[in-house]
Amino acid sequence: MKTIILRKGKEESLGRFHPWIFSGAIHHTEGGTLEEGDIVEVLASDGRFLAIGHWQIGSIAVRVLTFKRQPINQAFWQKRLAAALDVRKTIGVVGRADNDIFRLVHGEGDNLPGLVIDIYGGTAVMQAHSVGMHVCRHELAEALKAVMGESLKAIYYKSETTLPFKAQLGQENGFLFGESNDDVARENGLKFHIDWLKGQKTGFFVDQRDNRALVEHYAKGRKVLNMFCYTGGFSVYAMRGGAELVHSVDSSAKAVELVDANMELNFPGDTRHKAFAEDAFKFMEKDLPLPSLKGRESSPFKGELERVYDLIILDPPAFAKHKDALRNALRGYTKLNCKAFEMIQPGGILFTFSCSQAVNKDQFRMAVFTAAAMAKRKVRILHQLHQPADHPINIYHPEGEYLKGLVLYVE
Ligand code: SAH
Repeated sequence: MKTIILRKGKEESLGRFHPWIFSGAIHHTEGGTLEEGDIVEVLASDGRFLAIGHWQIGSIAVRVLTFKRQPINQAFWQKRLAAALDVRKTIGVVGRADNDIFRLVHGEGDNLPGLVIDIYGGTAVMQAHSVGMHVCRHELAEALKAVMGESLKAIYYKSETTLPFKAQLGQENGFLFGESNDDVARENGLKFHIDWLKGQKTGFFVDQRDNRALVEHYAKGRKVLNMFCYTGGFSVYAMRGGAELVHSVDSSAKAVELVDANMELNFPGDTRHKAFAEDAFKFMEKDLPLPSLKGRESSPFKGELERVYDLIILDPPAFAKHKDALRNALRGYTKLNCKAFEMIQPGGILFTFSCSQAVNKDQFRMAVFTAAAMAKRKVRILHQLHQPADHPINIYHPEGEYLKGLVLYVE
């Protein structure tokens, strides 16, 4: 096996089981020229064994697979996947008739850095975020079949956009096993089309399941605005919760088609819902005389501003993809939340989220605090939300915490 020897003192973070080795920590390599995706052994400067991991070019040079000397083969993957499945059984998301959507593998959170696997009924969607996992994809697929057994009908590989593009990698999307046209899966008894072929992420935002259920709890009799709706998860739950009306907004026309399809699947012909392909800021800056709403093609917003919504969900894409974009991201969150505070009716409830890993809980809360003060509203925090249990955080890898949300009562 090729070997990486660290600079003196650079083994410390591995002593705390942190699963990343940065390129600056490497002193030299032995055993031949490294190729991206290689499995390497990592040694301290005094030759002591530290870990085995996947190497690739970049700031994170090695993603640690194990801190023990052991072969990385199908049996290894099988053991890790079985452990991940056990956790999901403990959480209670496996083997339920009303719910067959869950995340089986959440990268570092499941001691499988660089790998994501989401389950949608009989289809697993596998996504590699490291070259090493990409190289191992066929072994992983075999291990996954062994662990999931009969319930698994197909494995779709979707890594075109998550890997650094390199012509020789061969990272085309496609089925690694079986094939499936059945794109409908269930979350808490609601049905969703999952677009694993073209959709964002693995086709669905699995991480909002618990938070969607909380929206359902608050939806009764409310006028709901679901901003950044994507496939309309929050909207469908709000409908079941008894909302008076639900408006879904996303700048992507494709997303709006998906919302409409999901609504038809669960509440055919229900006129309480409307979807709008619009930019969030434009939509919120418009005046909102509800009775004249005709449909998303017409531009229905004219007249005086009416603060008609009393439940607003803001679930924007990550504003900060990197640490250096932090300041702008925080300003973006403040601006967006300020708009929502300005428009929400007294007694309204605001669900506001950030999925930027680079923005921590306190920074996000400060951005929302600033927005509340700017809008001069009285605001109480009712719930502090986070990613669900099937997106676990490895205690040695706090970077795995990314989703945070606040549920606010606005007087
Ligand atoms: N709430 C969704 C996930 C949201 S993902 C769910 O539960 O599934 C973020 C969404 O924001 C994407 O669908 C993207 O198309 C949309 N988006 C990005 N920028 C936007 C903008 N400026 N205005 C409106 N929508 C936007």
